[in-house]
Parts: sequence; structure tokens; C-alpha cells
Amino acid sequence: MPEAFDLIVIGAGPGGYVAAIRAAQLGMKVAVVDKRPTLGGTCLNIGCIPSKALLDSSELYAQAKQHFAQHGIGVGTLALDLNAMLARKDKVVKGLTDGVASLFKKHKITTFTGTARVAAPGKVAVKLATGDTTLETKSILLATGSEPAALPALRFDPKYIVTSTEALAFGKVPQQLLVVGGGYIGLELGSVWSRLGAKVTVLEFLPRLLPLTDGEVAKALHRSLEKQGLVFHLDTKVTGATFDDDQVIVKATTAGKEVQFTGDRVLVAVGRRPYTAGLGLKEVGVTVEERSGRVPVNENFQTNVAGIYAIGDLIEGPMLAHKAEDDGVACVERLAGKKTHVNYDTVPSVIYTWPEVAAVGLTEEQLKERNVEYRAGKFPFLANARARCLNETEGFVKILADARTDRVLGVHIIGPRASDLIAEAVTVLEFSGSAEDIARICHAHPTLSEAVREAALAVDRRTINI
Ligand code: FAD
Ligand code: NAD
Repeated sequence: MPEAFDLIVIGAGPGGYVAAIRAAQLGMKVAVVDKRPTLGGTCLNIGCIPSKALLDSSELYAQAKQHFAQHGIGVGTLALDLNAMLARKDKVVKGLTDGVASLFKKHKITTFTGTARVAAPGKVAVKLATGDTTLETKSILLATGSEPAALPALRFDPKYIVTSTEALAFGKVPQQLLVVGGGYIGLELGSVWSRLGAKVTVLEFLPRLLPLTDGEVAKALHRSLEKQGLVFHLDTKVTGATFDDDQVIVKATTAGKEVQFTGDRVLVAVGRRPYTAGLGLKEVGVTVEERSGRVPVNENFQTNVAGIYAIGDLIEGPMLAHKAEDDGVACVERLAGKKTHVNYDTVPSVIYTWPEVAAVGLTEEQLKERNVEYRAGKFPFLANARARCLNETEGFVKILADARTDRVLGVHIIGPRASDLIAEAVTVLEFSGSAEDIARICHAHPTLSEAVREAALAVDRRTINI
């Protein structure tokens, strides 16, 4: 008799592993199958965590190189031990992936390391190192995430034209790194290698960086990264590549002209695509949208086939770890008869460059498109006492509120620790709060969070410190 479960989760990324734990808490007998030997999916193994570990290390290096002197600290000759930096990143990853394994043990979740295929509703076939097996279950949760989108003009290879995975582990600092795509990955990993000494050139197809970010914020980040030494070519369409003696020559067109760029490494970061290869979805009748590769689901996260559910990067919404987690919790809580839902309108986004960019809600461009009358309040970190103490005065907080009701519709921050500051804004949006609410809440002094309060006061044109 095959082993039977209440829920089999395919994929142990932030969507799948969190769903598995929550389902176990709700009393379900749960199994998780992942083809990777370590748990945590893209996020923990080759995404959020290793990239943030390198961003944090390289930020410290850049601080020591350029900013410590302003604090009166001399460091003598600064040395970079790239191997040690990469080893620290790997240790951070291992600590967290091992942590998921112990959480699975604690919650009595059975783990299978192997490639899963949906054989039929209620049946999952798994290719294990020891042979094949078929598991039975009441429900199947697809959480297989996404993979890097490929460009036909630039074929990936393990050494020269690479994805983020290889760019998280370059054995030496590239001399000239070409980055195709000025989005999250391009700007984060471009920043890492630029700080460590690479010349970084970003080739972006559109006339601006970060197409979904508030335009004023994206422009400010563009300027800031240029000051840090990154070079940007916008409106640039890559058409092909050739190799010449350990160098890649990338050909492109811009303003109707042919141009070329030479680099020793090329990072292609032009988006990610839902990953369903080998899952057997077509055979069991689960719909997959042809253009986007996404799996459509209903409000219960159920696909068009009863008993088969999907979450995270596989389905609609931003491809972000915290969104995948929330999908996972909502999906299994609904399976257990609860009414949980995920509000995609209040999912925050963060770009972990320096300065950081964080946002929640609508941008000014979106408000204009929708003909919403709004008031904007802005406050620069230059006028924030804590930012002055930190010597991190770049950037601003911008709050967009409904002109009639004062309800906060969007908050956009570029500046130090924007990633942490955005949490307050998410809470206010989730509770349909107003700019006046933020303005009336006591914020500790001296903290960066006072800039959020001042931006809320600025909506009503009554800032105190400018
Ligand atoms: P995934 O994390 O992709 O997990 C899917 C799992 O399914 C994988 O482990 C895979 O091995 C497994 N799998 C696939 N097919 C099968 C099969 N047939 N059988 C068995 N197992 C299978 N998001 C953020 O919110 N913050 C960040 O800072 C951030 N940084 C990122 C940096 C990089 C470089 C990258 C690439 C991504 C980053 N992301 C970030 C995005 C984030 O990683 C994803 O949104 C998130 O991992 C999606 O979670 P998921 O559970 O849907 O899928
Ligand atoms: P992205 O969608 O963030 O950016 C891709 C960029 O590539 C866009 O600016 C797009 O206009 C550009 N582009 C597309 N085709 C191009 C072409 N042919 N030539 C030049 N430019 C082209 O995608 P990404 O940076 O690959 O990241 C993938 C996803 O992973 C993100 O959208 C995000 O969901 C997630 N991610 C999140 C974080 C974070 O939360 N901090 C970090 C990394 C990745």
C-alpha cells in the first residue's frame, strides 16, 4: 500500500514550506517533495538569502572603503577576501535551510528528496535516488516556483552568460560585468559586484529602470547608482553575443543604431517564469496559461482540477517570497475551512540596493492613470536627525493620500533601511488608515521612522523639520 497523506506539497520554497508547517499545525498529515537536497527553495538557496548576505557584506566593504573615514575611522589597507565572503554567505544559507529541516521534524512533516509528478488527482509519483514511488493524498499543493527567463539572443552557459545563481558565486570579481535587465536582480547583484570592484554596465530594454516602481523613486535610485559607478544604457535591445578570447561581446541596438559592449561576464536578469516542467499538469488537465506560464487558481487557490492547488511564483501576483508565504498559509487555512485571504494590494516590495527602495500600494503614475485625486507628502532624509548621525542622508519618504478622504493609497521610500521602514506603511494601508493617522502616532526620536511621520505631516503641508 502506498503511503497516504492529507496534503502533499510539491516544492519546499517559502510558499511550500510555510504551507506545510501551517497545515501540520492544523492537524493535517503532510509530506513535502523537493528535488533539491536542501529545503527553502529558490529563496533560501539561490535567491533572497544568498543575495542579501552578499549585499550586506559588500555594503560593509563599501562603507569601510568610502565612509568610515567620515566617521573618523581609519582602516589602513583594506583587503577583500572573496572566498571568505562567499563562504559566509553559504554558511548563512546552510543555517537557514537546516532550520527548515528541523522545523519539518518538529511538525512531523515527511520529506522526500526527489522529482515529483502529478500522476492523477490524489496521486504523486516521485523519482527518488533509491527508485520511484507513488504517494497518495487527499490534496496536492503545487509550489514549484519559477526559473530565470531566457533570452533567445543570449544563450545561458555556466561560465560567461549566466543567471543569478552563478552570479551569486563568481569565483573572482569580474573586471567588466554586463547586466542585461535593470530590475530587482540586475540592480541588486550589479551593486554587489560594483562595490567589490567590477565595472558594471546595465543594459535595459525600456526607457527607465524598475518599470513598476514609482517613477520619481526609480529616477532617484538611477542617479544614486550612477554616482556609485554603475553605467546604464536604457532603451537598449540586446540582439546577440559573440566570444573573443575570454570576453563576451554583446551586440545591441539603441536609437536605431548598432552598438556593442564587451565584458568578461554577462548576467541576464530579464524576469522569471513559472516553473512547471515535468510536473505532468497537461496530462492531468491542469490549465497553464501559455503566454505567462502561470497556473490560474480560484479564491481557494484551487486549479481547474479539484484537489490540486497552486501558490507562490506559479500563480498571479508579485513573484516575492513573502507573497508566496501568505499564499501558502491562506491556501491550507482555506483547506481547513477558514476564510483567510491575501490582499495583493498591500504586498510590500523592497529593492535591497543602497539606498534601499521600498514601496506599498499605488505609485503616482498609477494614481494619474486611474484619475484619482491625491495629495503627496514628501520628506527628505537630509532633514532627519538619525540619518544625519548615520551619515546616510540620501533619499526621501513619499506618502500619497486620497485628496478627499486622506486615506493612504501608496507609500514609496528610498533611503537607509527603507526595507524596515515600510512595515509601518503596510499596516496603515491594511487598516485603511489615513496620513493623519500616521502624523498623530508617536514615533521615537531620533529614528529614521520620524521621516515617515514627517512625510505624513507633509501631506497636510505641516512638516515640523523643513
Ligand atoms: P521557490 O522558492 O522557487 O521553490 C520552488 C521549489 O520547488 C524549488 O526548491 C524546486 O527545487 C522545487 N521543485 C520544482 N519542481 C519540482 C518538482 N517537479 N519536484 C520536486 N520539487 C520541485 N523575493 C523576495 O521577496 N525578497 C528577496 O529579497 C528576493 N530576492 C531574490 C533574489 C534572487 C537572486 C532571486 C532569483 C529571487 C529572489 N526573490 C526574492 C524571489 C523569491 O525567491 C521567490 O519569489 C520565491 O522563492 C518564490 O517561492 P515559491 O515557494 O513559489 O517557489
Ligand atoms: P525584473 O522583472 O525585476 O526586471 C527585469 C528587467 O529586465 C526589467 O526592467 C525589464 O524591462 C528588463 N528586460 C526585459 N527584457 C529585456 C531585454 N530583452 N533586454 C534588456 N532588458 C530587458 O526581473 P529580475 O530582475 O530578473 O527578477 C525576477 C523577479 O525575482 C523579480 O521580478 C522579483 O519578483 C524577484 N526578485 C525580488 C527581489 C526582491 O524582492 N528584492 C530580488 C530579486 C528578485
